[in-house]
Amino acid sequence: CAFKKCSVNDLLTGVLSFSSAMLRKQNITVHLAFQESIPLIWVDTEKLKQVFVNLIVNAAEAMPDGGMMEITTTCKDKFLSIQFKDSGEGISPELKTLIFDPFYTTKATGTGLGLPICYQNLNMHGGTIKVDSIRGQGAIFTIILPVEQNHF
Ligand code: ADP
Ligand code: MG
Repeated sequence: CAFKKCSVNDLLTGVLSFSSAMLRKQNITVHLAFQESIPLIWVDTEKLKQVFVNLIVNAAEAMPDGGMMEITTTCKDKFLSIQFKDSGEGISPELKTLIFDPFYTTKATGTGLGLPICYQNLNMHGGTIKVDSIRGQGAIFTIILPVEQNHF
């Protein structure tokens, strides 16, 4: 594994640099709203990058005809918040809890493992993930991570 003290802004920039060709091809524009000088956190960088990839892939799959993605990072009261907002089809209220169940998928060729892996990888860092959505107006996945992780 790859434990490091690092900036989530840098990790996101790295993941986006290899996703950018795929996103551009699909007519998806990405807006970044990173908080400057965000506190560094001690994480398994591979596990956290996997979370970001899974959320970006899901957003792209929700916008087959293109759209807009917004990634926001903020820090407040010793917790980082990383938000992924898309302009895709959104998620109905009944599905908001189901989508974190292993193997739950609404896609013909989906594995249903992307979000459970996100949940697990964040949980091991003392973090959480939740979803908000207005049907027809896209989805917002919000990650919360503690800045101080004493259990490592
Ligand atoms: P998979 O992508 O293989 O279906 P995931 O665990 O990544 O598995 O996602 C589970 C389900 O959650 C998806 O099938 C989809 O219905 C829903 N979902 C996830 N992300 C989004 C999103 N950004 N917009 C709309 N629906 C989503
Ligand atoms: Mg997925």
